Amino acid sequence: MRLSQMLFVTLREDPAEAEIPSHKLLLRAGYIRRIASGVYAYLPLMWRVLQKVSQIVREEMNATGAQECLLPQLQPSELWQESGRWETYTKAEGIMFALTDRQERQMGLGPTHEEVITAIARDCIRSYRQLPLHLYQIQTKFRDEIRPRFGLMRGREFIMKDGYSFHTDEESLKQTYADMDTAYRNIVRRCGLAFQAVEADSGAIGGSGSQEFMVLADAGEDEVLYTEDGSYAANVEKAVSLPPEAEPSPFATYEKRETPDTATIASLCDCLNCSPTQVVKNVLYQAVYDNGTTVLVLVSVRGDRDVNEVKLQNELTRRAGDYDAIALLSLTVPDADAQQKWAANPLPLGYIAPDLADDYIAKQKDVAPKFLRLADKTVENLQSFVTGANETGFHVVGANWGDQFTLPPVVDLNKSMAGDRSLKNSEQVLQTARGIEVGHIFQLGTKYSEAMGATYTDKHGKDKPLVMGCYGIGVSRLAQAAVEQSYDKDGIIWPVEIAPYHAIVTVPNINTKEQMEAAEKLYAELNAAGVETLLDDRKERAGVKFKDADLIGIPYRVVTGRSISEGKVEVVDRATHESRDMAIADVVPTLKQWVEEALAR
Ligand code: ATP
Ligand code: MG
Repeated sequence: MRLSQMLFVTLREDPAEAEIPSHKLLLRAGYIRRIASGVYAYLPLMWRVLQKVSQIVREEMNATGAQECLLPQLQPSELWQESGRWETYTKAEGIMFALTDRQERQMGLGPTHEEVITAIARDCIRSYRQLPLHLYQIQTKFRDEIRPRFGLMRGREFIMKDGYSFHTDEESLKQTYADMDTAYRNIVRRCGLAFQAVEADSGAIGGSGSQEFMVLADAGEDEVLYTEDGSYAANVEKAVSLPPEAEPSPFATYEKRETPDTATIASLCDCLNCSPTQVVKNVLYQAVYDNGTTVLVLVSVRGDRDVNEVKLQNELTRRAGDYDAIALLSLTVPDADAQQKWAANPLPLGYIAPDLADDYIAKQKDVAPKFLRLADKTVENLQSFVTGANETGFHVVGANWGDQFTLPPVVDLNKSMAGDRSLKNSEQVLQTARGIEVGHIFQLGTKYSEAMGATYTDKHGKDKPLVMGCYGIGVSRLAQAAVEQSYDKDGIIWPVEIAPYHAIVTVPNINTKEQMEAAEKLYAELNAAGVETLLDDRKERAGVKFKDADLIGIPYRVVTGRSISEGKVEVVDRATHESRDMAIADVVPTLKQWVEEALAR
């Protein structure tokens, strides 16, 4: 492609709308244009990158025996009613764009395709002989993200490869899941990215496993905890660990103490001269279930720890049946306004004890009359601890479970932190890193097949629900993650594997016949040899062309400059800025070899 004929618009200044380097660079270098919040046009250079990522995905998926298809984006609400997700996806989480057609039928734009694929499996799969089966597609997804940001990282319209597998049993599912683990590692590696596979939260449906593929970068929205020896890595949402031991308590006897202005743990520890590890902190949450019931939840956790709200959500979902509900709609820390709706009296906030009286909850329909009390593991074995006295300005010290307080049901609800020891190997300390989730593989089990009646007939003629897995990779997010991992002050440094072009031939002065002729020849020969090459034949100053070539991040630049009279050109490596003079005759074979080596990685 000739730059003189291409839609090629670069910006000198950083666009104000962009916060992170990869977003700024993709806008500046003319790869993408914002059309609306979280909605982007992929311009020709970007589309080539996306096609390359898609092709790698396709090759790795096909190699596992999965088959490509294309499912509809416009989906009838009925299917989502059957799976039970219409209400949560359109109302509670609100992630699904929904619309009403001219016949007054409700439809949604696909944020994901479990419902559609399960409907197809229900129609098409009859017998165990057809299993296992794995279908995937590469397609635009729609999600009404509450905070679209960082360009393609969190868009409202984005490209995803999603695949769904069907099995007779868990064992067969595990086999495909393992194949997908390998395929995903190959995909991310072949795209030229450094990554970490981590254990991930699989929500309240449990399932026997879920794993995310994280591209490590400071701008990542996820936190990853891992050990140096590689024996453990998990998303912080899911991570488990051994917190540091609590310090022995200095409070030998139980008593109530006046502790003015100590609503925070730090101020309380200052006042009592104790360690946060000796404090039982009681955190109040408000849970709303899908049947409209509000439940007030009191979680007791050690003073130096935080509640992992994902673990808490999962626990509350597991308990939905206790409140005649099916799903949890929301979990929040109730602010003053929210408390007004149910609190019979003002709460002693900051001074709450595990036995806060249930009569703080005003009797009313739709609000569970008792607190749901839960204790995190970190408080289970605490002795002579400090906690609130249910009275503003007062705490109790020297308290014990079984004496002054009843220990609530114990659940692992605490948020693991860097510095904790690993449960796998207690000599290993957890380290923290930021990650961009580019892929997620998931053992679904029978959740959708049971809800939607997708069954097969087994060897003995018995009907059984299909066992399912699902596997997603964010094609557009991955492409931007590559930039986030690889850029410098001059612009993008694409990995050769997914660069829109491998090389760019820059003509410093198009009015010099010799320069132009050599460039035209190299341009034609490089392309013919399979080195995808651009020709910068624009009427621009040489400095502008060099800057643009650096900005758009093409791996190799060939400059037909002054040394052309000696039969040489300059070849510059974008990543290292290393420049060398090369005989014209060597350019094509050398670049061809470099590209082939990179693609074989
Ligand atoms: P996140 O936790 O980042 O919201 P998710 O867990 O909801 O993502 P999945 O449903 O697992 O995402 O989707 C599979 C993949 O699709 C993700 O791993 C990610 O790469 C990509 N993806 C998800 N949401 C977006 C988005 N809004 N914009 C771009 N890519 C996305
Ligand atoms: Mg995910």
